[in-house]
Amino acid sequence: MIERLPLVMWPRVSGGVLAILIYHRVLPIPDRLSPGEIDAQRFAHQMRFLAKNFCVLPLREAALRLRAGTLPRRSCCITFDDGYADNLTIATPILEQLGLPATVFVASEYLDGGLMFNDAVLAIARSTQLAVLDLTPLGLGRWPLATDDNRREMVAALLGQLKYVPPKDRARRVADLVAVAQCPALPTDLMLTTPQLAQLSQRGVEIGGHTHSHAILTTLDLAQVKAEIERNQQLIFAATGKPVRVFAYPNGAPNRDYGRAHAQLLATLDIEAAVTTAAGVANQRSDPYQLPRFTPWDRAMPRFAARLMLNARLGRPVATAD
Ligand SMILES: [Zn+2]
Repeated sequence: MIERLPLVMWPRVSGGVLAILIYHRVLPIPDRLSPGEIDAQRFAHQMRFLAKNFCVLPLREAALRLRAGTLPRRSCCITFDDGYADNLTIATPILEQLGLPATVFVASEYLDGGLMFNDAVLAIARSTQLAVLDLTPLGLGRWPLATDDNRREMVAALLGQLKYVPPKDRARRVADLVAVAQCPALPTDLMLTTPQLAQLSQRGVEIGGHTHSHAILTTLDLAQVKAEIERNQQLIFAATGKPVRVFAYPNGAPNRDYGRAHAQLLATLDIEAAVTTAAGVANQRSDPYQLPRFTPWDRAMPRFAARLMLNARLGRPVATAD
């Protein structure tokens, strides 16, 4: 396993380079239906690697130091999107053991028993007993489900078809799916509860905004976007007693999922830094309201290290069109 990254390989940029990593769930053990999701053992390997090779900072501090030009040469942030309970139960003990800070972006609508549509689709694929799931009446195809590959294929296709459907219609479609698939009750413990959110914050994890309903901002008008962000900030503040100063755009692709007007709006809502899902690393020229991130999805540590490096060398600050 690669233990140390040769310093010479990291780009030398005046004012520092900031790598921001995105995670979602950290599973107790690998899941055959969501192979892209990291498990505790692999997460611990990656965290040990980061602890040895990087100065790991909470996002707000890193963004402020990036602006001030006082970032250590190899800096990194660990971020989690959406607000999964395993961020507290599985990731936090690993992070605490290594003394690593992290930032969790919470979509508040799903606190206390909620389920995001992607997890609902996964739960349906996992729990249906049908050999073939015929979704043609819903306009969503017909899916044999004999193997894990079949199930993964269906999940990928359904997620693609439902991602940009407005949330209310999407919830209705997921309910239809549950009925057709004859599923038992879907999980209610995937996301943080409000007391767990409070505990996460008390244990030193920085909590960021991610809108209330995880709405893709470009599907709403600006007043609705503002209401989504403010409601989210209020609920997080009520749970943690700390104001929300950092934000992650839902879905996060520049120009497609958010635009310049949204980046400008954040500055008026006391947000000091925001992160996207555009790949790359941030430097002093980066817009603090559009800091790039990347997902370290590699299984093997040498590839994880190589990807960090490649991302750092190829990454460009994001420019957003109007
Ligand atoms: Zn998200």
